[in-house]
Amino acid sequence: MNRVRLLVFNAALGALDYRVPEGMAVEPGSVVVAPLGPRQIVGIAWEEERLPAESVPDARLRPLAEVLPVPPLRAELRRLIEWTADYYCAPLSAVARMVISSGGALRGPATMTEYRLSGGMPERMTSQRERAMERLEGEQATIRELAEIAGVSEGVLRGLVNQGAMEAVTVDCDRPYPRARAGHATVDLNPEQAAVAARLVEAVNEGVFAPFLLDGVTGSGKTETYFEAVAAALDADRQVLVLLPEIALTQAFLRRFEDRFGAPPVVWHSSLKSTERRRAWRAIASGEAQVVVGARSALFLPYARLGLIVVDEAHEVSFKQDDGVRYNARDVAVMRAHFERLPVVLASATPALESLQMAESGIYERLELPSRFGAAELPAIDTVDLTEDPPERGRWLASRLARELAERLDKGEQSLLFLNRRGYAPLTLCRNCGFRFECPNCTAWLVEHRFTRRLACHHCGHETAPPATCPECGEPDCLVACGPGVERIADEVAEILPGARVAVATSDTLNSPERAAEFVAQVEERAIDVIVGTQLVTKGFHFPELTLVGVVDADLGLEGGDLRAAERTYQQVAQVAGRAGRGEKPGQVLIQTRHPEAPVIAALAAGDRDAFYAAETEARRHAGAPPFGRWAAIIVSSEDEAEAKEAARAIGGTRPDLADIAIYGPAPAPLSLLRGRYRYRLLINARRSARLQETIRSWLDALAFPRGVRVSIDIDPYSFV
Ligand SMILES: [Zn+2]
Ligand SMILES: [Zn+2]
Repeated sequence: MNRVRLLVFNAALGALDYRVPEGMAVEPGSVVVAPLGPRQIVGIAWEEERLPAESVPDARLRPLAEVLPVPPLRAELRRLIEWTADYYCAPLSAVARMVISSGGALRGPATMTEYRLSGGMPERMTSQRERAMERLEGEQATIRELAEIAGVSEGVLRGLVNQGAMEAVTVDCDRPYPRARAGHATVDLNPEQAAVAARLVEAVNEGVFAPFLLDGVTGSGKTETYFEAVAAALDADRQVLVLLPEIALTQAFLRRFEDRFGAPPVVWHSSLKSTERRRAWRAIASGEAQVVVGARSALFLPYARLGLIVVDEAHEVSFKQDDGVRYNARDVAVMRAHFERLPVVLASATPALESLQMAESGIYERLELPSRFGAAELPAIDTVDLTEDPPERGRWLASRLARELAERLDKGEQSLLFLNRRGYAPLTLCRNCGFRFECPNCTAWLVEHRFTRRLACHHCGHETAPPATCPECGEPDCLVACGPGVERIADEVAEILPGARVAVATSDTLNSPERAAEFVAQVEERAIDVIVGTQLVTKGFHFPELTLVGVVDADLGLEGGDLRAAERTYQQVAQVAGRAGRGEKPGQVLIQTRHPEAPVIAALAAGDRDAFYAAETEARRHAGAPPFGRWAAIIVSSEDEAEAKEAARAIGGTRPDLADIAIYGPAPAPLSLLRGRYRYRLLINARRSARLQETIRSWLDALAFPRGVRVSIDIDPYSFV
């Protein structure tokens, strides 16, 4: 009797046993289809001893339906799935689902039909057809995807197909990607870069687990340096994964990659079309995809023969996933490299304190690039004390910053103003009665967006048009904007520098790779004088004519109870400062602050990174915070406020009493209402030696909650709201 245990994608079902029919070859990692009641489900064959399940007698086992035509998941990946589930207290099935992230890919080779404009015209032109044809220039996709791109119904496009204005194209779903070549371009590295590159190449060739912290100042050429390790992996016919934080910023990266290797990499992110996703997944699983550049979810793909992982901008908060499986891609990347026995490079100009500590203790090998590439020098940094040089009422730029902006404009150089606040104003209220516009679903103000004439919640996406009269007192035209957002700063720049061409760069304006590319091109062509942007512009961009960076409010990030607030402020300001003076002209950075004496601001102004990290290390050590202790959060939520409160109280009431784990709460979360759910939170601070996950699991497993209650566990949390 041949039986097999399956990991299935529904946590409530647990593991399930099946019979393997005569002649069917199943091994651990095989992806299979099995009957479940009247349905069929997909599962992964797993080692029985690693996956406990209720024992079912042989006679009651149902036979597997088929083995899907994809390579079995390798043991190294299965161990990573287990480790991730265990460490982050997540269901195995939820982690496995991140691996099998394209349903279509499991079905083997296929062709599909896509459509594109044929060059012909329809017999009868309508405004809908005209709009569709305008927007579909250069596009090829399925009818459904084209309808979305064009903003018309599928019927309109079918009409165009019938009239010959659009044509069908048969596409091989697995058509190969262009090949990257290690020796495509000649490379010019300075001696520091060459030494670091040589060490990385050596590690790739050795093929052993080797974690590196590539610590290089902004503009030092970290990318060019680790590209040499990518080249070594290509030569050895091993795959490479490069994780990047913001997909909107990858256009510049892709161009550099193509210049170096003669072909673009395979791209992976959440907004891929399903056909692109399928094609990439299959090429990754077969080993055909050579280099994958992706957002954090690319980490769990089933690479056939991975040889190197790079996490670029490794300090970035966006590597932490805050829903579903709450993992940190930076940390899981190191574990994947460990299981697969290969080098992993964490690259950053402002490493996370946790990573620095690992380097200090010798677990990561530290590679340094302490100076900028070529003639560029690090910018001069200065603070503007807003208590001494306050902007006029209703304005946000101090006179010195305004003066420097005008000077740059005169010289034809570019400036960047950084404020991490989207929209026009963070708060809108009624001048007459003081009514404040709040989100109905969240504990949050509605943010005014003037470009789109909306009041929007940045947490749940709720939007409404600004009303003509106050909903509270009925006063007409009474709305007052409080505080600045980037749109308001852009208005101010337009007022003080009427001739300047100003661009707002946020996730609202650069919301697709195309728009991001267009923005980059405009800046490069010097069609923009002043960029006003959020954290989106703090990294990745390389604009040689940009010589002035103004930080509008450096104190903003220090407000609130975020454990990493100082570190994040340091990283953001240092990164945005790094955009200045990357070419031959020297850069100047002005930081507006009310607290120039705060340690983080003083360290930034002095350009003294070591002083900042030393002070921060001491503060963390004192607080038992990471990397010296560990945090976890338990978040309880329900649409019913009383139910959420009761569940939180039940958890709090059964808290374990341990010497090495302190538990705080339950208390209403700072965002006590989010997307219509009431939230309570417990915070856990543990010594490094504590059995944190085990404790939380056995604590919560003993409790039962009503259906409407969701209890999530966040290990090593980043967001404390
Ligand atoms: Zn009012
Ligand atoms: Zn909301």
